[in-house]
This record gives sequence, C-alpha cells and structure tokens, in this order.
Amino acid sequence: MRIDLHTHSRVSDGTDAPAELVRSAAAAGLDVVALTDHDTAAGWDEAAAAARDTGVELVPGMEISTVDGRRSVHLLAYLLDPTYPPLAEELSRILVGRSARVPIMVERLRGLGIDIAVEDVVAESSDAAASGRPHVADALVRLGAVKDRDEAFDRYLAAGRPAFVERYAADLTTMIRHVRAAGGVSVIAHPWGRSRREQPDEAGFAALRAAGLSGIEVDHQDHTPEQRARLRAIAADLDLVATGSSDYHGTGKTLHDLGVNTTSAAAYEQLLERAARAAVAAGRDVPLVVGR
Ligand code: AMP
Ligand code: ZN
Ligand code: FE
Ligand code: FE
Repeated sequence: MRIDLHTHSRVSDGTDAPAELVRSAAAAGLDVVALTDHDTAAGWDEAAAAARDTGVELVPGMEISTVDGRRSVHLLAYLLDPTYPPLAEELSRILVGRSARVPIMVERLRGLGIDIAVEDVVAESSDAAASGRPHVADALVRLGAVKDRDEAFDRYLAAGRPAFVERYAADLTTMIRHVRAAGGVSVIAHPWGRSRREQPDEAGFAALRAAGLSGIEVDHQDHTPEQRARLRAIAADLDLVATGSSDYHGTGKTLHDLGVNTTSAAAYEQLLERAARAAVAAGRDVPLVVGR
C-alpha cells in the first residue's frame, strides 16, 4: 500500500486542479491520497469524483493555519465536517485574512520598484479559495522579477523580508478541539521543518495530545533523518500516529513529488479508527474515505 496524506491543489497554492492531482496520484502508483488544501474543503467534491473514476482512495482533508503562542503551526485535519460552525468560522477568518493582506504586500513591492498590481496576484489565484504569498510569488515570477517561488520568498515574502505582512491564524489548541468536535482527526504537519528550534518538544506534544491531537507528520522533506528518528520516538512514546507524506504542490514546490514520503498501512488504519471514534462522539455518521 502506498499512502500519501498531504497534497495541495489549485484550490490553495498547488498547481494541479483537484481532479488532475488525483489522476497524477493514480499514475504515481498511490493507493491512497489525501487532499489537504490550506484552510478549505473547496476541492473535495472534484477530487472525490476523480477518485471514483480512477480507483484511488481519497481522504478528504485540509491543512489549517494556526499559531501556538507566536509560532506558526500547520495542522493537518482529516475526515472532519467542514461545516461545523466554530470550525467554519475560523476557516473563513483565515481565508479573509490571507487575501486581505495582498494589497499591502503589493504596495511594499511597488515601494521596492517592482511594477506589480493586485490584479496580477488575483490572476495567479483564480481557482483558489484565497490569495496567499505563493500567488504573490507566482505573479513576481510572471513579471520576471524573480526566477521561482523560492527566490520570491527568500528576497521578499518570507518572515523578516521586506514585503512580509502578518495575517490571522487560529489558536492551535482550540483548533485541535474543533477538529475533533467536527468528527475528524488532526496531525501536526512538518513540526520541525523550516525552523531552527525543535518545537513542540515531547512535553509540548503531550499537551497537544491531551487536547485531542492524533498524530505527527514525521516523514517530510523538511525533516532530516535525525529529526525523523526523534519525532518517531516521541510519537511512539505518546501513542501518536506517525505519518509520512509529500506535501505535493505540483510545480509550485520542487523535491515534493507525490509519494516521495508515505504513511504505513498500519498508521493509516489507526488514523481511520480514531476518526471513526471522533465521528461517533460528534454524533455524525462515520466519515467515509471515498472509494473505500
Ligand atoms: P500564506 O499562508 O499566504 O502566508 O502562505 C504560506 C504558504 O506559502 C505556506 O503554506 C507554504 O505552502 C508556502 N511557503 C512558505 N514559505 C515558503 C518558501 N520559503 N518557499 C516556497 N513556498 C513557501
Ligand atoms: Zn502550501
Ligand atoms: Fe505546511
Ligand atoms: Fe502543505
């Protein structure tokens, strides 16, 4: 079984339409793929139809933008009811906040002598639920100001760079509770990636588990082999499910091809069992993986 539990489509900042992504997953030999666009379920229906056509199993999911204190944390959530009101309100606040800062970023870039307009960014995100920094990056590439997304982040868009603007994100612990109450399971995405500090540490993960966290994304391109080994040990200690995934963004991110990291069949079954329990506790039907 080849299982990839973290991918992005054009509904957020990937470059494939949801149906294309599912067909690519089938072509890449995956048996199971989760669609986890940032803060939205808008791609689920299109992906589900493609999953039924191709025979790939589809896990509906999303990657939620949260903060733990001042630290930004991405929370993967699977098999949740996206219409659960407290969750839906937070998601819409995140999406509105993401798009609302684009004009400010554009002004900053114009101040640096780049002839970019809000419309250039909107043009790069026409299928997306919100316009984010990756779409600003794509506009900069199209205008010839940078060669790729990475250069755009390095020069302008990453935290501490001149066009960086803060946006709203949900409180991590609150969001873990919301996901559970919405009948889903949550997994911390790439917890130690792209940061010098290895936080949360084991005590931090224990507190998140107490709030209802189900797993840790251990095998991710942004983790070194040593970090993976230590995260795997923490997951085992705390009875958290250790997952692995590509964080595929189509051509938007290199070294993240579908299936580059995968989740074991045993870990996947554990996640499904926890999701079934959460669904029953939330009083909804056991959420269905499409094509299972
Ligand atoms: P936003 O939510 O609009 O701030 O955009 C954040 C998204 O940009 C993340 O979820 C990543 O997908 C992407 N991203 C963050 N840092 C980088 C980077 N250095 N290079 C390319 N993409 C990045
Ligand atoms: Zn992304
Ligand atoms: Fe992420
Ligand atoms: Fe991601």
